[in-house]
Amino acid sequence: MTLVAVGTGASPQNRTMKPLNDEEKRVILHKGTEAPFSGRFYKHQEPGTYVCRQCGAPLYRSADKFDAGCGWPSFDDEIPGAVKRSPDADGRRTEITCARCGGHLGHVFFGERLTPRNVRHCVNSLSLDFIPAAADESSQSEPRSGKPVETDTAIFAGGCFWGVEHMLSKLPGVRDVVSGYIGGKTENPTYEQVCSHRTGHAEAVRVTFDPRQVSYEELARLFFEIHDPTQLNRQGPDIGDQYRSEIFYNSPEQRRIAEKLIAELQSKGYRVVTRVTPASTFWPAEDYHQDYYERKGTKPYCHAYTKRF
Ligand SMILES: [Zn+2]
Repeated sequence: MTLVAVGTGASPQNRTMKPLNDEEKRVILHKGTEAPFSGRFYKHQEPGTYVCRQCGAPLYRSADKFDAGCGWPSFDDEIPGAVKRSPDADGRRTEITCARCGGHLGHVFFGERLTPRNVRHCVNSLSLDFIPAAADESSQSEPRSGKPVETDTAIFAGGCFWGVEHMLSKLPGVRDVVSGYIGGKTENPTYEQVCSHRTGHAEAVRVTFDPRQVSYEELARLFFEIHDPTQLNRQGPDIGDQYRSEIFYNSPEQRRIAEKLIAELQSKGYRVVTRVTPASTFWPAEDYHQDYYERKGTKPYCHAYTKRF
């Protein structure tokens, strides 16, 4: 992409800081976090520039915005020099702030393989303002809203990820399935760490799908029929909490569907143990776990289709 300097000439000294309301103060000054899926820029798609709510400094371009399914505006690049990174007080994450005024923006994550740049700036909508391209004569960005296909993501844990990935990738409308780890406390865990059962992660898959061809509900129904949702912390021969049954939802709608399907199975007499949890960071597993059965040319030992609905 072409990077163009915008908003130059303004320094913190000669620029008026915008008064903040209480919610903005909580996030920008006191490093709070807005509720996921609540911000006005989460699904926002329009060519232009996202600027600091407090001081107006240009921070991100719409061309670098993508839908990470996490509930907050996500960008895989910043305007050069606009964003400062520091270790977060929690000792794990990397905080991002406006380089000009120090206002809190959110956090930056690496290695999630969500975009080719492999970076996700997770930013509070409350920390941002937006200047449409029409009013921003320096914008040369290409709007991503012109993308041909809008995909969605779903995250399921149902035992050994080799088998879940293999079974779900067969469904028409599924673009990509990645095996990984979620729901634990260690950053970027390895398979050995997860197998030690000390990190709390589940083996899981992240499914990228085209909602025009397959719905989240169809995917979730299949998920309940390719693993046994009544087995607690195991799946067939694989025993341990890393093999637990859990749905990590990316939106209130996904949560509603997951809970509806569990209720439907319970009404049929299944003692479902599947947990329904808000999605946290999904860590893709090592390359040798991806497309395992395709590369080996064998069939899953751990997963088979069973009609339950
Ligand atoms: Zn600022």
